[in-house]
Amino acid sequence: METILKIENIEKYYGNEGNVTKALDDVSFQVKEGEFIGIMGASGSGKTTLLNCISTIDTVSAGHIFLDGTDVTEIGEKDIARFRRENLGFIFQEFNLLDTLTVRENIALALTINRTAAKEVDRKVEQMAGKLNIADILDKFPYQVSGGQKQRCACARAMVNRPKLILADEPTGALDSHSAQMLLDTIRNMNTSLSATILMVTHDAFTASYAQRILFLQDGRIFTEILRGKDSRRQFFGKILDVMTMLGGDLADVR
Ligand code: ADP
Repeated sequence: METILKIENIEKYYGNEGNVTKALDDVSFQVKEGEFIGIMGASGSGKTTLLNCISTIDTVSAGHIFLDGTDVTEIGEKDIARFRRENLGFIFQEFNLLDTLTVRENIALALTINRTAAKEVDRKVEQMAGKLNIADILDKFPYQVSGGQKQRCACARAMVNRPKLILADEPTGALDSHSAQMLLDTIRNMNTSLSATILMVTHDAFTASYAQRILFLQDGRIFTEILRGKDSRRQFFGKILDVMTMLGGDLADVR
């Protein structure tokens, strides 16, 4: 498998002279196409900063981030929004569906902004909706569909233009355990059936156990990484808890 994301020695400082926080301290790692990777760490360990730097919402203080060979740290202000739309898919904690748009229009949003031809938009939306099992609710509004269908709508929106990377920030953070499991099953399906490359930030061991590999951040540095390999999800969950205990702090307390 090809490497799709290459993080090279990134550093991020906040503040100014005399009052500097080092949020990321020489972080390097690579993600291969089709991988499902989790990022864990206690509150304040740098997870959000890392995600924001990869998604070009924030800029690095040093180092480079390559997405499919393009150095995202070099992209100019005027090209950033377009780069994000064309290359990245986002799954937010609150799903951020627009209530005044139908499910179809919500999914089509990125394509409409990209000025894709109407016929092509319909084809892509219907294809993705079919794959995520929401083809029959495309003309309903978000308030007319179930929580699980809303989740799948948000996933379809993230996937519809086949981005190179899907970024998920605490996707299960606002969900009860049943809804969380449904969403994680959908995300896993996006990875296994639709070959999406996924990078997911979470502090929750159950959520993280759906990933194939997990990087643990501590004080802005990579503390360790673990691979699921042939482990069952339950076995992997146990290993995640072990690392969390080793790391200590508030990450261990969520048990
Ligand atoms: P996490 O997502 O793991 O909780 P963050 O990436 O939010 O961690 O934060 C990493 C560190 O950077 C923390 O010490 C935090 O206080 C600091 N930090 C994050 N954002 C800012 C900011 N905008 N200004 C100053 N410090 C920040």
